[in-house]
Amino acid sequence: MLVVMQHQATTEQVEQVVETIQKMGLAAHPMPGPTRTAIGITGNSSTVDPRSLEVLPGVRELIRVTQPYKLASREMHPDDSIIKARKANIGPGTFTIIAGPCSVESEENILQVADYLMSRGVHLLRAGAFKPRTSPYSFQGMEHEGLDILARAREKTGIGIVTEVMDTEQVQAVAQVADMMQIGTRNMQNFSLLKKVGVCGRPVLLKRGMSATLDEWLMAAEYLLAGGNPDVVLCERGVRTFTDHTRNTLDLSVVPPVKENSHLPIMIDPSHGTGRRKYVSAMALAGLAAGADGLMIEVHPDPGNAMSDGAQTLDFQEFDQLLNALKELAIPLGRTLA
Ligand code: PEP
Ligand code: MN
Repeated sequence: MLVVMQHQATTEQVEQVVETIQKMGLAAHPMPGPTRTAIGITGNSSTVDPRSLEVLPGVRELIRVTQPYKLASREMHPDDSIIKARKANIGPGTFTIIAGPCSVESEENILQVADYLMSRGVHLLRAGAFKPRTSPYSFQGMEHEGLDILARAREKTGIGIVTEVMDTEQVQAVAQVADMMQIGTRNMQNFSLLKKVGVCGRPVLLKRGMSATLDEWLMAAEYLLAGGNPDVVLCERGVRTFTDHTRNTLDLSVVPPVKENSHLPIMIDPSHGTGRRKYVSAMALAGLAAGADGLMIEVHPDPGNAMSDGAQTLDFQEFDQLLNALKELAIPLGRTLA
């Protein structure tokens, strides 16, 4: 349910509505807008008698939100959200790029990539310290040492850090270093993790589960938003299908329905989406054309010797070429690269 206040409603009137909602045992989420304030109601609002709210001073109307997700829905929040992560503003009007190696491998490697990205105007570095690997025998990440390396790279270069949190026990440590916490595909429905990250006060990049429907994905986002964290960015990274010409099937067709049903920004990860370096740039450009708000790309100075996901990782030269192509394509699309 959404309570829409009148244009001239006072702060006291908004507060009275919030208090009334709370007395009903429900949660109130005031959302100030350019013309009027709206107050979202979450909890079991089907039991609410709308008349008890409609009669309050300053209330214009009550709207029933039909989607199962509430705070993530465009019904409750008609304007596109802009999510701030360090210096980046992810959302309408710009196209943001997050890039870097799959894993933190060494301080030297991370500093080299961070310097390179900053020189290209890319202000968000991705790299996993905790790695969710299919095989227990594969490199599992540098863990806490990896986080320390990321923290030093941030300090030395000013780059923003995007890194994955895999487990509830890691939330505090990752939140100390990350400007944006990544929740990976395998954890999209790890509800204990979502609840904990929802209260940690850091922006989140929520990857789509590899077989998640749009509703399931937005319900996962709802967990984060319901915890009080408004800064959620969705990331399409490919889903599991019958085909095997690519590692996953990058579902760019999810972008328009995400835009239709939610106000949250969406980024595209063509690296995991294809699994093959030679296909990454085409799908990155397609992501921009499809209306996504940005890209997450795996980049490494020597992908052939990367400790994970080398086959889908661009080297600096390939990434430079992609950046140039994106800048050119952005012009006719009326978009600007951040
Ligand atoms: C990653 O970004 O390196 C990663 C593990 O992603 P995903 O969760 O999409 O597989
Ligand atoms: Mn990876």
